[in-house]
Amino acid sequence: MAPDTTVGQWLAGNRDLDRLDRELLASRVLKLTRAQVIARPEAPLSSSQRRSLDQLAERRRCEPWAYITGEKEFFGLCLAVGPGALVPRPETERLVELVIERAPQAGRVLDLGTGSGCIAVAVKAQRPDLRVTAADVSTAALEIAQSNAERHGADVEFLQSDWFSAIAGRFGWIACNPPYIADADPALNQLRAEPPIALVGGRQGLAAINAVITGSGVHLEAGGTLVLEHGRDQGKAVRRQFADCGFTSVETHHDLAGHPRISLGRLSPIP
Ligand code: GLN
Repeated sequence: MAPDTTVGQWLAGNRDLDRLDRELLASRVLKLTRAQVIARPEAPLSSSQRRSLDQLAERRRCEPWAYITGEKEFFGLCLAVGPGALVPRPETERLVELVIERAPQAGRVLDLGTGSGCIAVAVKAQRPDLRVTAADVSTAALEIAQSNAERHGADVEFLQSDWFSAIAGRFGWIACNPPYIADADPALNQLRAEPPIALVGGRQGLAAINAVITGSGVHLEAGGTLVLEHGRDQGKAVRRQFADCGFTSVETHHDLAGHPRISLGRLSPIP
């Protein structure tokens, strides 16, 4: 095949990628708006532009867009992202809303398995009165999370901890977006660029969820709340585990697609 000489030819030659992706890549490399890219298919490509486009297209075939730009918008904040942490998802914004609407004034909040820090940083940005701690087992994730807290001036305490292993004291709220995809779920094929430790939760996807619900008992204040993200088919199992571990007022909330994705429960005060 003859080398591409114009934007239009490059766009036509990479049809395995979505049209939007191709146009955005061209807009990035050529420093043009997307509208200009579309309007000027005859614009010539230099060989270095073509090389950059081919390299980015190759990355886009196996990486989320956010890893290519290094940024993702979450709860109105522009966050740094990278392969060391899950890309923040819109459904997690619902979890953040619940914390900021309901956590009592000046309470302690723990974001367990913080990843990019999205929950901790968004909560602290919206509710500076709260004392927010964020923990993760992964050094790479903690570096990203800390850079996001600095970027947004969010005073968050960071800890390296394998779930609750290094957590001391009790919290009014614990928020967690654990890995909850079942280890044989074909959906994982689409998520290969993201860290498996942030995604895969055992045979039914419930291993981390159950460990966090069970472990929360000794890290919540009496009457404290645990809020968790989970898969759309896991609501019933999650509510059962909450009940088995002494939680009451258990509720499940839906994401914007109408799927039950966020559950929370209150730890009953000891009578
Ligand atoms: N919401 C992610 C997905 O299904 C999974 C995130 C997670 O396991 N915590 O793409």
